[in-house]
Amino acid sequence: MIDFRSDTVTKPTDKMRKAMAGADVGDDVYGDDPTVNRLEKMTAEIMGFESALFTSSGTQANFVALLSHCSRGDEYIVGQDAHTYRYEAGGAAVFGSIQPQPIEFEIDGTLDLLKVSQKIKPDDIHFARTRLLCLENTHAGKVLPLSYLEKAGHFADEHNLKHHLDGARIFNASVQLGVDVKEITQHFDSSTVCLSKGLCAPVGSLVCGKKEFVDEARKWRKMAGGGMRQAGILAAAGVISLSEMVERLGEDHKNALYLSDLLSDIEEIMPPKKTVYTNMVFINMDIEKAMLLADNLKRQGVLITPDSEIRFVIHNDISLDDIRYTVSCIKSFFK
Ligand SMILES: *Cc1c(COP(=O)(O)O)cnc(C)c1O
Repeated sequence: MIDFRSDTVTKPTDKMRKAMAGADVGDDVYGDDPTVNRLEKMTAEIMGFESALFTSSGTQANFVALLSHCSRGDEYIVGQDAHTYRYEAGGAAVFGSIQPQPIEFEIDGTLDLLKVSQKIKPDDIHFARTRLLCLENTHAGKVLPLSYLEKAGHFADEHNLKHHLDGARIFNASVQLGVDVKEITQHFDSSTVCLSKGLCAPVGSLVCGKKEFVDEARKWRKMAGGGMRQAGILAAAGVISLSEMVERLGEDHKNALYLSDLLSDIEEIMPPKKTVYTNMVFINMDIEKAMLLADNLKRQGVLITPDSEIRFVIHNDISLDDIRYTVSCIKSFFK
C-alpha cells in the first residue's frame, strides 16, 4: 500500500531494527537504561534545553508538559485546532483540571497575539489563572515565522505566561527554514518533539525544558503509567531518528512540491500550488467525491483519508514512482 494518510505510518528503517535488536538496556524507572539516558541527553543538547524526557507518544509528552506548567484551576491558551486542544481527548482538562482557552488560528498557523492578550484573565476570584501559551510548529504543515516566535516569546514573558511548543514536527520546520532547531526552541520554556512521524522511529516523543520542569514531568509520566522499563529498545531507534533522519525531511518537502505540481494539471482539483506546506499537500473537493476517490484509490493500493480537504502526507516510505503512480490513478478516476 502507498499510504498518504500520515507520516506516522512510516516503518522503522533496517538500521533502526538492527540498533533496536542490539540495544544496551536497563530499567529506565530506576534511571538505569543507558540508551534512554543517551537519547534524552542527546535530545536536550540538540533542542537547546537543560533536560529531556522520553515518552510513549506526543500526546503523553504534551500532557506531562501541560501538567508540569499548570496546576488545578490554571488555564492554557491554545489554538482551536491545535493537537493539544482538539486531538488529545481533553487530557489536560480531564486529568489535570486545567482549563483550555482556545482561539482560532490565523491562516499562517500563528495565534494573533492581540486576540491572545484579550483572553488573558485578570487576577480575580471569578477567573481561572491564565498560566501558559501553547503554540504548534509545524501546524497543518505550516512553518511559523521566526519573527513571530520571537514576538510571541516576548509577549509571553511580558504577560508572565509560560510558553510551550508542541513541536511534534519541529524538524520539518527547521529543515524547511534551513536553520538550527535552537533558532526555534530558544523562544520557548519547553518543547516536545516526535520521533515516530517523519523521523521514522516506531514509538516515542520527548519533552524538553529546564531540569526542574523535566523532573516534574517525569513524575506525571509515571502517574500516567508511562514509566517504561527496558525502553532502550525503543530509544535506540530514536537515536538514529535524530542523528540520521533529520536532513532527509527535506526530500519529503521536495517530493510534496513535485506531487503538488503534478496535481495542478488535473482540472477537477482546485489548484493545490498555494497549499503545499513542508511534507503535506492539501486538495479540496466535496466530501462525496472524496469518498469515491478514496474507495477507488484503495482498490489500486493507495490510501488517503477522505475529507473535504484531503491531506497527502509525504514521508520516507513514499517514492517519486509512488507519487507518479498515484497521480495517474487520480487522473483516470476523473476520466
Ligand atoms: C502527531 C502529533 C502529536 C502527537 O501525537 P501522538 O500520536 O500522540 O504521538 C502532537 N502534536 C501534533 C501537532 C501532532 O501532529
